[in-house]
Amino acid sequence: MEKQLHHSAEDKPAASSPDRQRLIIASNNEGKLREFRKLLEPFGFDVISMRQAGFTDEIIEDGDTFEENAHIKARAVFEATGLPTIADDSGLEIDFLNGAPGIYSARYAGENATDKERCEKVLEEMHDVARPLRDARFVCSIYFILNEEDEYSVNGTVEGYIGDEMVGDNGFGYDPIFMLDDDESMATIGEDEKNRISHRAKAFEKLAEIFRTIAK
Ligand code: IMP
Repeated sequence: MEKQLHHSAEDKPAASSPDRQRLIIASNNEGKLREFRKLLEPFGFDVISMRQAGFTDEIIEDGDTFEENAHIKARAVFEATGLPTIADDSGLEIDFLNGAPGIYSARYAGENATDKERCEKVLEEMHDVARPLRDARFVCSIYFILNEEDEYSVNGTVEGYIGDEMVGDNGFGYDPIFMLDDDESMATIGEDEKNRISHRAKAFEKLAEIFRTIAK
């Protein structure tokens, strides 16, 4: 659900400044930065990484939900820099595993495990589990702090189920075991299709809507 946390209509949006307003993505992941740049530069923002902003502290992500972790990251960077900041957190939730791997998706099979090892661990845990109990979803939470008054939280999800084996070579992470239907996994569809239907795409759409509103 999209949430406007604190917002007063009279606030002068940063995006209306004649100079390009710097906006930090609370990540140093190049792929993520590229996606956010593409989305936000049309709104007049100069999108920079945490490192480019001079932020190198470790952030302890000890929230219980994707949204809390995104909030913790955004708040830490905003407090340190005073610049508008966006953070995201994402992962896979499997009903039969009570929502695991969830917020632990990145390190589910240990800190240094590969994507393949993480997929194999899930397949093992789901071995012999009947189809109706294999439902799962990818979740993406994005938290945006514009200034002291205005904070926004958006979420996107895509529903599917855990297959019996890894299928497809595209994508990353848990994509090969995430079935969209009996024929396609998230790793058999192409990048363009994934960018249309994914949890991240859906959260992005909601974030774009917020930027359209504040840039008015
Ligand atoms: P983070 O949001 O960058 O911390 O990503 C968390 C973890 O969730 C990743 O390391 C992946 O294992 C998993 N994940 C997030 N998004 C996707 C996706 O689109 N496909 C597959 N796995 C994903």
